[in-house]
Amino acid sequence: MIKGIAASNGIAIAKAYKLDMPDLTVTQKTIEDTANEVARFEATIAQVQEDLVAIKAAATKNLSEEEAAIFDAHIMVLQDPELKDQTITKINGDKVNAEYALQEIANMFIGMFESMEDEYFRERAADIRDVSRRVIAGLLGKSLPNPSLINEEVVIIAHDLTPSDTAQLNKNLVKGFATDIGGRTSHSAILARSMEIPAVVATNTITEEVNDGDMIILDGSDGCVIVNPDETTVQEYTKKRDAYIAYREELKQLKDEKSITTDGYQVELVANIGSPKDIDAVLANGAEGVGLYRTEFLYMESDELPSEDTQFEAYKAVLEGLNGKPVVVRTLDIGGDKKLPALPLPEEMNPFLGVRAIRLCFQREDIFRTQLRALLRASVYGDLRIMFPMIATLNEFRDAKKIFLEEKEKLISEGVKVSDTIQLGIMIEIPAAAVLADQFAKEVDFFSIGTNDLIQYTFAADRMSSSISYLYQPYNPSILRLVKNVIDASHKEGKWTGMCGEMAGELMAAPLLIGLGLDEFSMSATSVLADRKLIRSLNKAEMNKLAEEALNKSTMEEVVELVKQYTNVQ
Ligand code: PEP
Ligand code: MG
Repeated sequence: MIKGIAASNGIAIAKAYKLDMPDLTVTQKTIEDTANEVARFEATIAQVQEDLVAIKAAATKNLSEEEAAIFDAHIMVLQDPELKDQTITKINGDKVNAEYALQEIANMFIGMFESMEDEYFRERAADIRDVSRRVIAGLLGKSLPNPSLINEEVVIIAHDLTPSDTAQLNKNLVKGFATDIGGRTSHSAILARSMEIPAVVATNTITEEVNDGDMIILDGSDGCVIVNPDETTVQEYTKKRDAYIAYREELKQLKDEKSITTDGYQVELVANIGSPKDIDAVLANGAEGVGLYRTEFLYMESDELPSEDTQFEAYKAVLEGLNGKPVVVRTLDIGGDKKLPALPLPEEMNPFLGVRAIRLCFQREDIFRTQLRALLRASVYGDLRIMFPMIATLNEFRDAKKIFLEEKEKLISEGVKVSDTIQLGIMIEIPAAAVLADQFAKEVDFFSIGTNDLIQYTFAADRMSSSISYLYQPYNPSILRLVKNVIDASHKEGKWTGMCGEMAGELMAAPLLIGLGLDEFSMSATSVLADRKLIRSLNKAEMNKLAEEALNKSTMEEVVELVKQYTNVQ
């Protein structure tokens, strides 16, 4: 059995199809005729662009428009003046061959983006690697493997799958894939999950241990691959596979059902999104609205700040797409690990404790006001709720609200229609606000608990640092007590509390949060149905007892044990 990282759930049983990458090793050569070399580079870029357009046309058959858009991202990388111009400058300046120059420049960008925690930037690094590999293959006169030629049921075995390889997979024939390298958040793993293809990545040795045509069992939930299994094992896994398929089908039946416990306690399961492009997934997975629209991605997409009109179009698209369901938009949360090309921030010793989110918006009120105006204008297209990130004091909320009301009045006096029912809330991600929730609750319309940051600030443990990741403790009673304090405070004032950090989508958390009385759970759209199924099996009265006991435990491990005793969550 070969072990790797479980990247996409499900079981595949089929023959191995090895996708061999040609050797793309590049050596440095001195070039005298650099003009000719630049021309060769530009001709290859033009050819690769044509190839990508053709691949995209073929991939659209397999993928949704949104998934096929990955190729538009690649064409954009190809046309990106930074990458192209810096390569040409290097060819001319260092008198080196095009493939070497491109590899050096691409590696510099890849290194820069990969060091950022944010998934958006890591995806950009994967895109640059994918595209530069295509151009280097073209320059070397080599052809890349073409998974669209597969014509029977297979499990793909590869050293690595680029996002464009993954997007070309025909999911009727490709039953799964396993790679030597990769990670759970690598782009190909994300695509595999959205295409529902089982996948195991980071096996280290799969390409050495498997031959073309070997029989393969791949368990994407467990992260393991069995090569040439005996008959009993095949039977065992066939049963498991069928059970999994039945489970997925059962989940799909819950798409339009309520998120309600056996004794009638109903909550809302909503989705986290980063762009209007995510609406399809929100609706397909039966989410009851949007609980966190991270607007910063709109600001990261370009070298310029998005205009009021650009923002208005994006917010309107989301509100219209959700067709009256609630949409919680978070105002700009930049700083910390998120940087803006259009707005260089000063270097700080501790950026997560520095000018971030609402603090930056107060320093750059012009940016904040533009965003609020765009939101106000869009508000007539649906049920808009606005929340401010990183609020530490009540005066910060008051100041933000004052600016919001000023922009509202201005728009009204200009004759622009705005909604009169926009709820204004705050993210609870700083312990000071969690502790003082009773005072905040008198003035805000709602809370949304951002556990990613609340945990980082409560445990004084940088969320970027992997060596202290054991301090990410969502089930520690200290966090549960803060969450309880916030929920109770909101209810006392007739307000509601949601949660939009990663914890909200974890199955282990659902029984506790139901017990604590959380009103709204916001998570990645693909987690909604599994969470709904679990919640529909829980009893609120019993979960109240569980929560009460959990609050009085002393460690996270004890709480996890307790949840396992009360439920069948593992
Ligand atoms: C959080 O902090 O939990 C959160 C949802 O915000 P972000 O991850 O964008 O900081
Ligand atoms: Mg946060």
